[in-house]
Amino acid sequence: VTNDLLITNTTPIDGTPGDVLIKDGKIAQIGATVDAPDGVDVLDAEGMLLYPSLVDGHSHLDKSLIGMPWYHREGGRDLHTMFADERDMRSSTAWDYERQISRNLEIMIANGATYTRAFADVDTQNGLAGIQAMLALKDKYINAVTMQVIAFPQSGVAARPGTSDVIDEAMKSGADIVGGMDPCLIERDPVRHLDLLFGLAEKHGAGVDVHLHERGYMGAFSAELIIDRAKSTQLPGPIMISHPDFLGDIATSDAERIIDALVDAGVSVTSNAPSSDPKPPLRRMIDVGVNIASGCDGQCDTWAPMNHSDMLQKAYKLAWRNGMTSDIELRHVLDIVTEGGAKAMRLENYGLDVGDEADLLLLPGDVHVEPIATLPTRRTVIKRGRVVAVDGTFTG
Ligand SMILES: [Zn+2]
Repeated sequence: VTNDLLITNTTPIDGTPGDVLIKDGKIAQIGATVDAPDGVDVLDAEGMLLYPSLVDGHSHLDKSLIGMPWYHREGGRDLHTMFADERDMRSSTAWDYERQISRNLEIMIANGATYTRAFADVDTQNGLAGIQAMLALKDKYINAVTMQVIAFPQSGVAARPGTSDVIDEAMKSGADIVGGMDPCLIERDPVRHLDLLFGLAEKHGAGVDVHLHERGYMGAFSAELIIDRAKSTQLPGPIMISHPDFLGDIATSDAERIIDALVDAGVSVTSNAPSSDPKPPLRRMIDVGVNIASGCDGQCDTWAPMNHSDMLQKAYKLAWRNGMTSDIELRHVLDIVTEGGAKAMRLENYGLDVGDEADLLLLPGDVHVEPIATLPTRRTVIKRGRVVAVDGTFTG
């Protein structure tokens, strides 16, 4: 397999129409016309627009029910019941981690994302099964997707004795990031929760990513504790807050103060464009320079049947949910599902400059923001110079 390719007749984002030469999986030359070196495959993009790969900054590949019988959800259930239902399903013999993660991954890639920050549940009931499957597939799919695996204690750490040891084992096994969960609402002991997470992250030279389902000032309180830790602790990895929806649920002046503090502390956030209220004030966060990623979150799982493994569709949902329709606003949304995720993953050599990894996406349209609205099925996905998906079909 060679990782050389000449893409002709394309327009890179922020560039002019022309050709892009890839050598050894990296962008080697960009120009109005580039001659094909001997033996190099040529891909005529037929005028399609060129983007860096989409980045799914928050995925739960191990929860997906894709290809399985319809799951009957009962509305209005509390979080603890949701967690227990999920744990029980995954400890049943019918649950096949590898099959479900693979199905989800291939759809995600085929839709244009070749990077993901993948949460894998760790708890005292299912132990490391999810992490082990995720790490095995990270290796198996290494030529099609770059994965950061987050050990995710959804059911709690301080609240469920033994979980901290399971996270420790997960990190020893090769997980990249320590996950956290609702320091007040689920854990009921926020300082102890953060002591455990940051202790594990320091021990393993990792970052921390905390899910917040806490609303109003409970979420604000947890976020401020995380921000304080980010300022007082020098972790080698990134510190993130996943879906800080509470920011749309407190006084504007308080939300603005916390948003400024996120920038100051270098804490990134992911917003998954929640379908229900509240939602974080995306425009304000963009204006002041918070690093924002997004992700498909739970993809067709027990939580979210309407979520799909499609980061372009996620961009559509972000734009739709936040009333963002001008070219400039749509470009911000495009940046969230590309550069924002890349920064959250601390990727080097991500982008469309010479020397960057040739992790690319071709989409039809007149201008680069147009596919966010049109959601074309025509898509060509390239990983390190190799075509890995065409028009929604994963080719490996
Ligand atoms: Zn999540």
